[in-house]
Amino acid sequence: MEYEQRRLDALRSLDLLDTPESESFDRITRMASQIFQLPVAAVSLTDSERQWFKSKVGIQHNTIPRNKAPCAEVADSGELLVIEDFALDSRYCDSLLGVSGIRFYAGAPLVTREGYCLGALCVLGNEPRKSTEAERMALQDLASLVISQIELQHTFGRIDPISGLPNRVQFSDDMSDLARVAPDENRVAVALDVAQPYQMERLSAVMGPAAYEQVIRDAARSMRTFLGLRAAIYHVSPMQFVFLAPPGIDANGYRATLLRLTASELVSAEIKYAVTPVCAMMTYIFKSTSPTNCLRALSSAVQETRASELSIGLFSDSQDHDYRRKFRLLNDFQAALTDQQQLRIVFQPRVDLLSGKIVSAEVLLRWRHPELGDISPGEFVPIIENSALAWPMTQWVLATACRQLSIWYKQGISTRLSVNFSASNLKEDVVSEIRNNLTSHGLPHHALEIELTEGSLMKHSAQVLKKLDQLVEDGIKIAIDDFGTGYSSLSYLQRLPVSVINIDRSFIQALSNGSREQKLVHSMIRLSHEMEYKVVAEGVEVPEAADLLRVMGCDEGQGYLFARPLAPRAFEDLWKDTQSAANLLTAA
Ligand code: C2E
Ligand code: CA
Ligand code: CA
Repeated sequence: MEYEQRRLDALRSLDLLDTPESESFDRITRMASQIFQLPVAAVSLTDSERQWFKSKVGIQHNTIPRNKAPCAEVADSGELLVIEDFALDSRYCDSLLGVSGIRFYAGAPLVTREGYCLGALCVLGNEPRKSTEAERMALQDLASLVISQIELQHTFGRIDPISGLPNRVQFSDDMSDLARVAPDENRVAVALDVAQPYQMERLSAVMGPAAYEQVIRDAARSMRTFLGLRAAIYHVSPMQFVFLAPPGIDANGYRATLLRLTASELVSAEIKYAVTPVCAMMTYIFKSTSPTNCLRALSSAVQETRASELSIGLFSDSQDHDYRRKFRLLNDFQAALTDQQQLRIVFQPRVDLLSGKIVSAEVLLRWRHPELGDISPGEFVPIIENSALAWPMTQWVLATACRQLSIWYKQGISTRLSVNFSASNLKEDVVSEIRNNLTSHGLPHHALEIELTEGSLMKHSAQVLKKLDQLVEDGIKIAIDDFGTGYSSLSYLQRLPVSVINIDRSFIQALSNGSREQKLVHSMIRLSHEMEYKVVAEGVEVPEAADLLRVMGCDEGQGYLFARPLAPRAFEDLWKDTQSAANLLTAA
């Protein structure tokens, strides 16, 4: 029973069952049929309840029951089986094959290197027949060819073609085996990350794409030398290798060894200075950690090690918790984009500092996660902005904002909305996206403003500039968000088609600190005006700040003093109030 279980495990781990036909097996099956001059031949694999044919000639079906199948006997015994006449064989005369008219069978065992018999290469005939020694030997040889083919295909998906080392799939299998054999053991698992993606990009830009392969081969060879011939080293992702420290060694005890490894000549001298290898370790408890989780944890520890600019790092649970949450948010945001319940937008009024009336509103995204509850945009936006979902997020916000605004326009609430765009959005076709949204909702172009942070414009290209120019030609205003927190200067911004400056709330909140801070804000406003920008003060929380800003000539203010970000209905009410009598400056 135990052998049978291991045999089935071996068969299933080959991922052969229920795969399509393949010429490399069919060729062997045809040869078997020709040698015996018999109409039927098959590569028949013995699954728990069935014989499944990886390859066959002369039969239609793919599978027959295991019960009373001669191939199953071959799988059990691991030996060649010949049935010269089914009619004379008490065990098989009433078998499925026997009653369907089969009289002759010869099957050679398919035995793996580890000694598991997967099934048989068999030939069948409709007449009783004898077999010669030569035929039986040929059948055995062909069976060995089948096994070689199986193993070849299997290794093909398990060896990294560049390093020649076993890959992630093999790591998972080997670790599962280890966990079965020694579930209570711990080992220190180590990831060596050879270089950062940008380093590889730079290298291939300078030295050509083969540089990547050279780095990988160098690293694989050096690790082999360093760790010894018998160490299992896995190449788990393009730049990452993983191996286990010898049994009985703890993470701290292994640090010195890894320091020597990272400091060694991992890669050849000419590219040595272009890459920075780091190692990350974790205690791998077979019983409680799956191989996939081990790799994931190591990956997160590598990121953390890089972020802290160390060369050796240790996986920590609390950091991992952060990574897992980030990962989860990223993962779950996709669903949020299509689920009507999770995302919504709110509107924070921008107020004219002279009249106290609402002139526009900033659109801010809100996410209520079905299990984690409200997630602050300060947490999820940076994660999404750096992912492939950055554009779908902005598309969603833009479309939703335009839909709401068109409803408001029909009610006579002709306000303007400003939508936050992420840096990476600028590589998309923002111009058509915005035009399409405005047109399909029947909105004028001046109804929309977009906010971009300084940072996103720092490295603008000619194409980006062209897109911004097109937007401005269309009549859409562009605002620089969080101004003052980046490194750009007004003279730099002058080259961009920007018309609004949002002074970051950190400067506005510092106004109460004293005259230095006030002078700073004042000169920001003055300079902006000289360059004909409109100036918005963000994060106005107290009346004193609003008063000061008005005196300084600041055009608009936004902040909790006037209003928090509001749901559509609440915004509507406030807008109507300020259109009639209310003045948010005096009300506040
Ligand atoms: P932001 O673009 O600078 O948005 C202004 C943030 O300041 C908002 O935070 C707003 O609620 C908050 N705020 C407004 N008045 C005050 C005040 O008086 N005091 C204080 N302390 N805070 C105030 P929120 O909604 O949490 O958004 C945070 C950031 O998330 C935004 O900063 C923006 O960078 C990003 N974000 C929000 N929605 C979107 C979006 O739809 N797209 C993109 N790309 N980013 C968004
Ligand atoms: Ca903003
Ligand atoms: Ca801002």
